[in-house]
Amino acid sequence: RDRARATAPADYGTAPGHVDGEPMVRAEQVWKWFGSADVLRGVDLTVHPRQTLVLLGPSGSGKSTLLRCVNALERVDSGLLEVEGRRVGLREAGGRLHEMTEKELCGQRARIGMVFQRFNLFPHMTALENVALGPRRVLGLSRGQAEAEAERLLTRVGLRDKLDAYPAQLSGGQQQRVAIARALAMRPHVMLFDEPTSALDPELVGEVLDVMKDLAGQGMTMIVATHEIGFAKEVADTVAMLDGGVIIESGPPGECLVAPKEERTKAFLSKVL
Ligand code: ADP
Ligand code: MG
Repeated sequence: RDRARATAPADYGTAPGHVDGEPMVRAEQVWKWFGSADVLRGVDLTVHPRQTLVLLGPSGSGKSTLLRCVNALERVDSGLLEVEGRRVGLREAGGRLHEMTEKELCGQRARIGMVFQRFNLFPHMTALENVALGPRRVLGLSRGQAEAEAERLLTRVGLRDKLDAYPAQLSGGQQQRVAIARALAMRPHVMLFDEPTSALDPELVGEVLDVMKDLAGQGMTMIVATHEIGFAKEVADTVAMLDGGVIIESGPPGECLVAPKEERTKAFLSKVL
């Protein structure tokens, strides 16, 4: 078994330039609509450095849209959204806010790692090449540097013996761990996970959650959309329950998951547990 385990302790946490006490991610009254459909209807949330926020909520409640907004893959229609104190997708100049250019957006996204339900690895590249690509292209590392870093990260997610494997030769759980290593290779300050285990066979879920647990333990700031209540109980600092584009309840897992106040939270939990 190549059960995932961190090999070397790493330390994440506040990035250089991060102002003390400033949230890593802050949303205030964030609205997002598609045509006449309001998908996010005034979301407030704060994630401090080194904290893990678990986002719960039924299908269609807006979890993916919220994560995509944080990563500037979607533009917020109203409200304030900041990552490390900087407006997502907007730049200030001459006392006014301007939309970022595609290049500026890429710069902002480079600091935010995202892991999707589907791993989207390049099928014609080995695990090592998949992980080394971004650092070479975007961070400007040499091949040698990028591959050394990729090897270190793949070792950390328990895949030291799979460096030269192609995605098709890997299980879903192994592919998802490569995807996590690939996101980490960009040296993100925040990691976003959008239902990272829901496409996996049940027996492969644990190895991916273990990697995420290690990351949280090492101080990575994370927002995780998942239905894995056990993970939320064990790892989350805060749980937020999204329903109909609104956070209807949030707090420490010991409260929200054990003694939810809202009927809709109770109903949701009784379905996923
Ligand atoms: P979740 O991830 O919680 O399942 P989503 O954020 O994917 O929820 O979707 C929330 C709602 O927004 C759904 O009703 C979905 O159909 C709608 N939606 C998401 N993306 C788009 C889009 N690009 N265009 C129109 N509607 C969308
Ligand atoms: Mg989703």
